[in-house]
Amino acid sequence: MATASIPRVSASVVVLKAALQKIFENLRAAGFTLVGPRVRDGAIVLDEIAALDDLPRGWTEDKQPGRYRLVPGRNGQYFGFTVGPHSWKQFLHPPSALLFTARKSNGAWVFEPAKPQAPQYAFIGVRPCDLKAIALQDRALLEGPVPDPHYRARRRQVFLLAANCGEAAATCFCTSMKTGPRASTGFDLALTELPDGFLIDVGSETGSEMLQDTEWEPATAFDLGRATQALQRAERQQRELRTDDLPRLLYSNLEHPHWDEVAARCLSCGNCTLACPTCFCTTVEDSSDLRGQVARRTRVWDSCFTGDFSQVHGGNTRPTIRSRYRQFLTHKYASWIDQFGTVGCVGCGRCMTWCPVGIDPTQEVKAFRVSPARPK
Ligand code: SF4
Ligand code: SF4
Repeated sequence: MATASIPRVSASVVVLKAALQKIFENLRAAGFTLVGPRVRDGAIVLDEIAALDDLPRGWTEDKQPGRYRLVPGRNGQYFGFTVGPHSWKQFLHPPSALLFTARKSNGAWVFEPAKPQAPQYAFIGVRPCDLKAIALQDRALLEGPVPDPHYRARRRQVFLLAANCGEAAATCFCTSMKTGPRASTGFDLALTELPDGFLIDVGSETGSEMLQDTEWEPATAFDLGRATQALQRAERQQRELRTDDLPRLLYSNLEHPHWDEVAARCLSCGNCTLACPTCFCTTVEDSSDLRGQVARRTRVWDSCFTGDFSQVHGGNTRPTIRSRYRQFLTHKYASWIDQFGTVGCVGCGRCMTWCPVGIDPTQEVKAFRVSPARPK
């Protein structure tokens, strides 16, 4: 056992499952707060964790469009599930962030910009689709001409421990979107759960250091073969989405009557956008104290499904559910490519799972292929 040294970056090693506890301890000793999956309120959510026992060992999810149930999993695995309702954006791009405070002083307003908060998080068990979602949010919030200081402060501190998927849910379509089930880049460590341990790919120097004092061994061909088998199981997915011609398909069907059929089912509740790990839209809210001496501006998540979101100069650019759903779908699969050079969907399936009426984007896109351009 190689306990005294640490593996090189890009090495693949195997550890016993209990060694993950030592990695957690190393992360905590390095100043990280651990955030990972745990069972709460009948779901697997993301929250602060302290130890291996906090993980949802032995649980998985039964997911369908509009349905989520926690059910016993097989083999008592620590990571035998996929993604719950939460995504990591709640920690990197929080639902509410104070932007500035204004105080009245000697009859004049004095403005104090909020200092971006920068907690030092270690994200435990990031799925490959969610790693890609973080990369998409980086593109939107970090890599443009005006980076978001709040996102930047959090993002530069984060440690990413990814968990490759050994099984896909019925709502997953990461193979279509080429985002999973294996993480290829963007992690510090990436694990694949085996029956008797974890195969761990080392992605960074910091990741390598976190294996200090664990009993790791270089992965053998047998270990790599077992990991590949697990990933192949997760590649067999019930849903697929053809991506080669999405902008052409959607832009050429902007007046298709199918949008009316979706609008008849969609409640315009915005659940899909709030659960989506790549959606990043916000609005601002102002508040003041009762004496009118202190005011605050806070940035909060918003959604293209809310009426106020598209209200401009006394008119609404998307006054109907038809136009709002069309905005959601065409942004994800067409205009996101115009903006950022890639689609805005990672195939995690959260939007259909948490849609109260089970609207499934893979089926909505397919409808245009089955019956293309029927102009009104
Ligand atoms: S698609 Fe579903 S989740 Fe999204 S706004 Fe419509 S009803 Fe709500
Ligand atoms: S659009 Fe749906 S499937 Fe795609 S990333 Fe967002 S929540 Fe996941």
